[in-house]
Order: sequence, then C-alpha cells, then structure tokens
Amino acid sequence: MVKTSSTSSTPKRQISKQLIKMVKKAAAASHAPYSHINVGAVLYAATGSMHAGTNIESSSYSLTMCAERTALFTALSMGIRDFQLLLVYSPQIAFIVPCGACLQVLSEFAPDLLIVTMNEHDEFKFLPIKTLLPTPFVFNRQPVR
Ligand code: ZN
Repeated sequence: MVKTSSTSSTPKRQISKQLIKMVKKAAAASHAPYSHINVGAVLYAATGSMHAGTNIESSSYSLTMCAERTALFTALSMGIRDFQLLLVYSPQIAFIVPCGACLQVLSEFAPDLLIVTMNEHDEFKFLPIKTLLPTPFVFNRQPVR
C-alpha cells in the first residue's frame, strides 16, 4: 500500500488510490452535526485488508467516537490484529492527526503503526505513531514497592 521510490534524494512514498477513495468515502459518511468536522480513517492490515471508520458524534459529546477508533474497533471485531498503516483525512482540517485517546488505543494494538495524514490535494505526511505518542501508557501488573 505504501510504495517507496528512490528516484530523488528524498524517498517518495505514495498511497494507493483505493485507500484514498476509501478514506474520502468514510469522511463523507461522518455524523458530525456539532463540530462540523468530518473525519475518515482507514487501517491497512498486513493481510492487505482495509478497514474504514468515520467519526460519529453524540448530543452528549462525551460519547462521540473518533474515526480512528471506529476503524480500529471494526477491524478488531473481524479478528484483524496486524496493522501496518492508518490513513486519516478531513476535508475541513488539512493533515489532521489522531487525538491522544486514539493514539493510546492504536499504540496498544499497533506500536509500530505508520500514520499517514493527507490534505484535500492528496498530499501526505508520514508520521510513525511513536513520534506522535512517544511514551504511551502501559498497564503494569507489577506490585508497587
Ligand atoms: Zn480520536
């Protein structure tokens, strides 16, 4: 899904048209009557499967679900566990990145995930999850001394 070419001194990576189409379709399906920020996310798994999610807002606000976790939970519900890449897109916010809550949950299932964010011109930024959340919370069952 990520192609790297070395035709220039800077490696150039491209995202497949199918993944771009999916993330835009997911953003279009957004239910965001409060923020008016539509977000699409697509997780790409090692098996080649792709899992889309969108943000779904609730009138209670706190029960709102982000596109990234919607995509993750959809994939997990299908038994998918080995994720390589997450593409995120919002037509309202160029190069949107996942919130802290999503980064935490994503890092638990995919600590080496590559997050790709794009703008409306299909330009990309590639951000390893460890650069966005370098020290995620890890539950430790060790007793406190
Ligand atoms: Zn989030």
